[in-house]
Amino acid sequence: MTEYKGYKPTIGLEIHAELHTETKMFCECKNDPFAGEPNMHICPVCTAQPGTLPMVNKKAVEQVLRVGAAVDGGLADFTEFDRKNYFYPDIPKAYQISQYKYPLVSGGVLSGVELTRIHLEEDTATSQHESDHSLVNFNRAGVPLMELVTEPVIHDAESAMNFGRELQLLLRTLGVSEANLEKGEMRVEANISVSKTDEFGTKVEVKNLNSFKIVGAAIEYEIKRQVEAIESGETIIQETRGWDEDGQKTFSQRTKESADDYRYFPDPDIPKFKLSEIQEFSKDVIKKTLPELPWQKRSRYIALGVSEEATETFLYNQTLDELFTGVLEEADKNIDISKAVNYITSDVAGLIKNEDGDVTRITPENMLVMLSMIARNELSSRGAKDMLSIMYKEGGDAEGIAAKHDLLQSSNTDELKPIVEKILAENPDVVEKLKAGDGKMMQFFIGQGMKATQGKANPQMLSQIIKELI
Ligand code: ADP
Ligand code: ZN
Ligand code: MG
Repeated sequence: MTEYKGYKPTIGLEIHAELHTETKMFCECKNDPFAGEPNMHICPVCTAQPGTLPMVNKKAVEQVLRVGAAVDGGLADFTEFDRKNYFYPDIPKAYQISQYKYPLVSGGVLSGVELTRIHLEEDTATSQHESDHSLVNFNRAGVPLMELVTEPVIHDAESAMNFGRELQLLLRTLGVSEANLEKGEMRVEANISVSKTDEFGTKVEVKNLNSFKIVGAAIEYEIKRQVEAIESGETIIQETRGWDEDGQKTFSQRTKESADDYRYFPDPDIPKFKLSEIQEFSKDVIKKTLPELPWQKRSRYIALGVSEEATETFLYNQTLDELFTGVLEEADKNIDISKAVNYITSDVAGLIKNEDGDVTRITPENMLVMLSMIARNELSSRGAKDMLSIMYKEGGDAEGIAAKHDLLQSSNTDELKPIVEKILAENPDVVEKLKAGDGKMMQFFIGQGMKATQGKANPQMLSQIIKELI
């Protein structure tokens, strides 16, 4: 736990995520908040025309329950939606439909952090402020939004960042949200306080944190700011602060409203739900439908001997993970998976950064043939790199590429001997040093041999021939 001047920081997170449903939360408009043109996906419901009625999106409810089951939270027996009243141009009803007293999910644990609740609400429209007027785009209005609240049990910035990343992985694994912070698909608000005693200090909420790096930086900054303020005799006021990226600091936006200000009350337009009567929404049933969760995959890979770093790469990169999964499925037990891991997480990872090829050409079969060629000393690691690059850009199977591009490593003594003889003849002084016992000179000759054969010589074979010839 990081302490600062004897103060203990406490952090609780509130995280929103846009759900990836076909349609919006309470109407049949397409859920496409980033649609090319403003106001393409709107209707009387999501623009709050009088006389319209909301209809709950069952998929959105199911997605939140799936998240709840994954974190082993309690799924509601009973739930209802509430109106959260406030006025702003991006919320045309002058209330947001949210959940207050009966959230879909209560409790649960993620990344070692206890959760308070997960509930469902609707996203707002977006405003665009011009010099003398503002424009409102309703494509995002009514998009299903999940809100997850943690208990105030986090005590440092890094754990907060890790929590956010793990939630992002979970949402992607469940296919419920893309959860990109940069795009606003996931929005992290950090509540931060510091205290020297067992009693919590006054919390400050920091918003508009558009990357995990910023989440970390804002928390670090805010902890220091609060401690210095208290140390110089000021009292912390409960407020909402934003993040100033240029100045790398938080700044005051407004004093925080309390729940009372919102006048929450149950939305009379939406029926109440007895979820316990819906068989498919029971925790046991949902649990059976869950895919392998990020932390389960993590322990499986670690148990296989995959390094922690490579494991995280696979967790975050679906393309690379699919290739690795394919290799694991098709490989027999004796394959050295560490080699497969290395080629995938370094070479293939490098290749897919450029869009000049097609990663599906690097099939698990191709990968396995390549690995067996390496194991038989037919292919050098240089040759393997070239092979992957050709496979990615042009396609072809491993053996075909090796033949066509002359990548096979030469272990043929008859071929290598004259080359080595020539190198030795050209470097008599180095030969003398080697004979005198300077082992480093061996590397020099092997290097020259590799160069002369454009990397195709088998280095062990070269070393053997050099030893024979001197
Ligand atoms: P509010 O009523 O102001 O919304 P809540 O009690 O609902 O406050 O908590 C909102 C978030 O703030 C939660 O994530 C919670 O863990 C966190 N939180 C509450 N009190 C503190 C505190 N003293 N310091 C840090 N975080 C806190
Ligand atoms: Zn609509
Ligand atoms: Mg609250």
